[in-house]
Amino acid sequence: MREFMTPLISFFRLLGLLACFILAACGRSGDEEEDFILIRLTEEEKQAELLTLLKAGDQFPQGSGNFFDETIQIDEEGGVPAGGCRPDFVAQRWRPDQYQARGFTQSTERCGLNKPPADLKPRESIPIHWLNLSTRRANATGAMIGWSDAMAETRIQEAIDWFENYCIELNVNKVNVRANRLANMRAAMTAGIQGRPFQGENVTVETVSDSVNALLYREELRRPRKYLLILFTDAYQNVRFGDPDSRINRTAGNFESIPVILVPDPPDSASTHIITHELIHGLGKVLVRQSSFPFLRNIPELENPGPEAVSLNRQATWDEGGCPFDMGNAERTDQDVPLAKPNSDKMDWASFWQFDRNGNTGIK
Ligand SMILES: [Zn+2]
Repeated sequence: MREFMTPLISFFRLLGLLACFILAACGRSGDEEEDFILIRLTEEEKQAELLTLLKAGDQFPQGSGNFFDETIQIDEEGGVPAGGCRPDFVAQRWRPDQYQARGFTQSTERCGLNKPPADLKPRESIPIHWLNLSTRRANATGAMIGWSDAMAETRIQEAIDWFENYCIELNVNKVNVRANRLANMRAAMTAGIQGRPFQGENVTVETVSDSVNALLYREELRRPRKYLLILFTDAYQNVRFGDPDSRINRTAGNFESIPVILVPDPPDSASTHIITHELIHGLGKVLVRQSSFPFLRNIPELENPGPEAVSLNRQATWDEGGCPFDMGNAERTDQDVPLAKPNSDKMDWASFWQFDRNGNTGIK
């Protein structure tokens, strides 16, 4: 069957290539339209779109799929430990009865190490896509700044390896943007950082991130429904990560309302486990396609289970952990100094459970 089908598939591939060639030759190239442009939605439009998406279920059409090149899955050789899953956790974020109810042995000391139930099964994460908007280069004083793809991959691999200790296989994909579009995205990011207009509009790092996320979702990611997007960027000042009461800072962070994580350099190419730490915040969020929430809000479609769960959700992963060696505790007092978290830092059991609870990890 396979031998029979192969020439047929090749024929159709050839036909497709030929059609593309003829269309391009006829001058019907959509390149200009497909270049990176800013997409701006008001909060009302975003809310309306979210509700439409929630109602649409799986019927929502896929994107055209031709804006980005294919995403590439990395770490295909990876996997959780073959010998079973009994990592050390720290248990500080929730009440003792909540651990015990899930078969978890709680240490008697605060921030003590804890063992999970013996039958803990390996998990897999939702897709985590990454895109490097930065470049590695010398600044005016000759110091090297910015991200190379290799440096970004190093930080990501560090996270993959650490999560494997916790029986979670991260599903990581690199987004390959076509060259001219990447140049435009970089120009937009730079304009946002420097406070200059882009395409005649005033832009900020937030609006550029929002726009890149919207494009990625519309053009490529409509399936699967949930994802996280990590953007490696140049250094920025005072990015607002959410509503007016949210943090404004100049270091790595998760946006409240879109599933985007920004990681700037300087300082974060020198930060150990910066991606690991941010993924604890990110995988603990409620994710609905191109939207995200740091904790459950009163959206009936999300079946908000009540105020107590809302508050517990926030404590589990959105706020910084209370134990110094919780990987979910950044302990960063100076935003210009790289984060230095060791491999030996632990995951809080509440974070682990919250990833599952939100459907961002699941048993393989
Ligand atoms: Zn943090």
